[in-house]
Amino acid sequence: MKQIYLKILAIVTITLGSMAAPIVSAANSSPGSGGLADYNASGKTTADGTPLTHWAAGRGAGPVATLKSAPDLTALAATTPEPECPLELKRKCHFVPAAYQQVDPNDSSNYGNYDLAERPSNGLKVNSVVIHDTEGSLADTLAHFQDPTAYVSAHYVIDADGSIYQMVATKNVAWHAGNWYVNQHSIGIEHVGHAVQGQTEYTPQMYRSSALLTKWLASKYSIPLDRQHILGHDNVPAPIAGLVAGMHWDPGPYWNWQRYFNLLGAPIVPTAGPNSSFVTIAPTFSSNQPVVTDCSTSPCVTLPSQGANFVYLRTAPSDSAPLLSDPALHTDGAPGTTDIKDWSATADYGQQFAVAARQQDWTGIWFGGQIGWFKKPQGHLASYPTRGQSITPKTGLSSIPVYGRAYPEAGAYSGGAVPVQSVVPLQYTIPGGQSYATSGLAPTDYYYAWTIDAHLPDDHTVVIGQDKYYQIQFNQRLAYVKASDVVVDAH
Ligand SMILES: [Zn+2]
Repeated sequence: MKQIYLKILAIVTITLGSMAAPIVSAANSSPGSGGLADYNASGKTTADGTPLTHWAAGRGAGPVATLKSAPDLTALAATTPEPECPLELKRKCHFVPAAYQQVDPNDSSNYGNYDLAERPSNGLKVNSVVIHDTEGSLADTLAHFQDPTAYVSAHYVIDADGSIYQMVATKNVAWHAGNWYVNQHSIGIEHVGHAVQGQTEYTPQMYRSSALLTKWLASKYSIPLDRQHILGHDNVPAPIAGLVAGMHWDPGPYWNWQRYFNLLGAPIVPTAGPNSSFVTIAPTFSSNQPVVTDCSTSPCVTLPSQGANFVYLRTAPSDSAPLLSDPALHTDGAPGTTDIKDWSATADYGQQFAVAARQQDWTGIWFGGQIGWFKKPQGHLASYPTRGQSITPKTGLSSIPVYGRAYPEAGAYSGGAVPVQSVVPLQYTIPGGQSYATSGLAPTDYYYAWTIDAHLPDDHTVVIGQDKYYQIQFNQRLAYVKASDVVVDAH
């Protein structure tokens, strides 16, 4: 535990118990839309895992409404710090500060839109970048992140012309991922556009600026250039079971990860011989054109054929077999669908999985506790043979729990004033015998940032745990498993 702010000794009038709030309505359980629609973007929960009312009160699904006029960039440029950007992008980079302001004058825990931190010197490692899209215009996005009642922010916003607007210093924790643990450790980059229109709205200038920025941030913070560290919001796990169905799915299937990793100078390539026990999903973006529908209106509309970044996974090696289901998105057990917001049965470009079985042109991978089958189309690529590391439940365990965050054990909080955060698994398990790609141990920690003036005892400190967790590629999203539950194998 490390103190980074002077405690202001005062009579504490707020008890954490009184801040408990009803859970986000179950009606919010339809898969979320992209970017700005974040509810509970902070990902903060009470000690028992309940999302807070004010932080959960975000703007609901759908494009953001115009909230107020866009900031005057010229005026801001004169008063704001130098943006953190690589040299070759300096002229395209502006600092437009997100709101950092108390909302309720009687409640200093009610504020937006980010948290001060001194990453990484306060003990919080920056280990990932999360790619988003805004689902709204540049002006609306900047205004939204400057409105403290939005309870949402990102470190950077990138416009179609490649211009970069930094809104939160990278040492601070922006509220973008919908998972406090992931927010603690990541940098969020928004791209102006709509996931459904990604093919045209994600422009070459945008990809170039974004990749140059990510490459520079990766170098600055030693972030590995792979798909367990360079994430889409659609790869971020929910912190708790009740939030899985509402997790956002931006930047969606039309974000060109292949182009992005080429621009990063870290192209995805084969690293093993044929019939390897491990694969990287690697369809060629332009020729990979799966059927995708948009069911935001009824009836669903089939989107135009176009390049996409994923392969569908089926329950059996057959084109007529149902798509894999997901227990959070389809509580009745119905199969996954081709709806653009349904991530039940989609494995993304660059993600790695252990091979469960092969049959002719079909490869079966362990995915979300099941076998998912994808087909190598005639004359096309679907995956690369790959080396890597995987975890498997220890012999004798029939199944193991899967977590959405790597929080410390209760004992780690003793001796301090930070409320113990519950360690609760998601609704998934990994049956014995299954294997999942791991990028290694994840930090076991919790950053307690509860009030804007840090007036609670130990406010703005990091609790470090002794329990060890591996970060894994579980389904389209990451997850965490306890090291004590698994063995690690090299492939
Ligand atoms: Zn997002």
